Amino acid sequence: MHPLAKLDHAHVWHPFTQMRDWLRREPIVIADGKGAVLRDVNGREYLDANSSIWTNLHGHQHPKINAAITRQLRKISHSSALGFANEPASLLAEKLIGLANDKTMWRASLRVGHDKEKVKIPSKTSSHLNKVFFSDDGSTALEVALKLAYQYTLRARGQSTKRAAARSEKAKFLSLDGAYHGDTIGAVSLGHVDLFHKAYGGMLFTTDKVMSPYCYRCPFNRAKPERNDARKYRKCHWECVGKVEQKFSTQKKRGNPYAAFVVEPLMQGAAGMIPQPSGWLGQITEIAQTHGTLVIADEVMTGFGRTGVTCHVDDKTIADTAENPAAAKLFATARVGVVPDFLCVAKGLTGGYLPMAATLTTQRIFDAFLGEYEEFKTFFHGHSFTGNQLGAAAALASLDILQTRQSVLQRARLQKQLHEELQTLWPLPNIGDIRQVGLVAGIELVKNWRTREPFGLRERAGIRVCEAMAKRGVLTRPVGNVIVLMPPYCTTKTQMQKMASALREAIQEIF
Ligand code: PMP
Repeated sequence: MHPLAKLDHAHVWHPFTQMRDWLRREPIVIADGKGAVLRDVNGREYLDANSSIWTNLHGHQHPKINAAITRQLRKISHSSALGFANEPASLLAEKLIGLANDKTMWRASLRVGHDKEKVKIPSKTSSHLNKVFFSDDGSTALEVALKLAYQYTLRARGQSTKRAAARSEKAKFLSLDGAYHGDTIGAVSLGHVDLFHKAYGGMLFTTDKVMSPYCYRCPFNRAKPERNDARKYRKCHWECVGKVEQKFSTQKKRGNPYAAFVVEPLMQGAAGMIPQPSGWLGQITEIAQTHGTLVIADEVMTGFGRTGVTCHVDDKTIADTAENPAAAKLFATARVGVVPDFLCVAKGLTGGYLPMAATLTTQRIFDAFLGEYEEFKTFFHGHSFTGNQLGAAAALASLDILQTRQSVLQRARLQKQLHEELQTLWPLPNIGDIRQVGLVAGIELVKNWRTREPFGLRERAGIRVCEAMAKRGVLTRPVGNVIVLMPPYCTTKTQMQKMASALREAIQEIF
């Protein structure tokens, strides 16, 4: 065993990993990476087919990001945001606000607050994203949104913190079935992953859940399985939207409308790469906002171009993109013209180079925290590395790259190629559903595609397929029985082909 692998076995405890399994075999020890390729300490190369757990955008060692970090290193690596401002964080905040507020996103209708008497109907300027709170990772970005939404709601309802502790008046949150929004206690409370809820149940607060639009396994979808993305052949009457509507009106009747609705726009990641049928997000946002509920968009996975250039990319889209690259939106919410009250970003913010996150929010929320020192309206929250200069410098460089014509075109072409490669997998009988949103794909493995019969937990179908892919030089991690393909944007045509063929061969080997 390599000496570094021995050290790892001796001392490192890995996240979300059954360490008994881990200790049974020699781990791959990554030594370096370039572009979409990772290299281990033995010189073996692998394709990074899940962009290092959904973080990397432009590939490893991108010269522009490396240069930006190095330039910043020569000035300063970190100074505290408690008491001081700094150059890259200020520039980044401005840039994020500019990108999140695409002019085409303005909604015609005004939103109504929780209590018409007490809350002013927001003007266009008070409801656009205008403020950035920096933190360290996806979980903390969600914690920030959660605490802000909680405090804002109490203030908008004129409630004291004491009264709010009473059960009937608690500010309640709603999220989707299977939701994952991070693993700090607040973020876990927002989620609905049974495993984590069982493990930490006693430490969590209750969050309501509503059905997610999982067309492939939707009890209301009357369509027989086809060799196609289930969203395309679903037969239903939008019962999933009806369920959301029902949930909101029941909660309103209880006299305690939801404080916030938390949602991953366009695709739920850790829930199993569950894409939303076209139109769903707009409808549910409308429902939430007409009930005076804040919308928290978790774009930790979907942000920074991950959901693609447009819905579907063909040669014409590529030609249009070449003409007008600025039309490509970087956020899933912007893609569909939804304006959330909070936009949480992390993972790809720095191009996947450094841990940094941000929670964007509106002037309206910000204003609710203004007051005299002794009023204690301050947002009592923050971290040591908030607004870190190295992270912000990397993020600025990454955003510059994302906006180049070359990057937009490359993303459009990769999206089209990913779609074409995925279509070649349909003849495999153990493929139940293939779900692609832009540059993310989830491939659901089943025992029998005609009945949608799933593999049992003990069969470790997803894990075994990923192990067989690793043997072929392609690295990714499954979500249960769903194989994730999420290539870095720099992935070449040959590399994309290799990712798909490794998956095909792995499935053929295992089943
Ligand atoms: N939200 C979403 C949608 C995520 O996918 C994740 C991580 N997979 C998180 C939040 C938490 O992010 P982190 O692991 O950086 O804390």
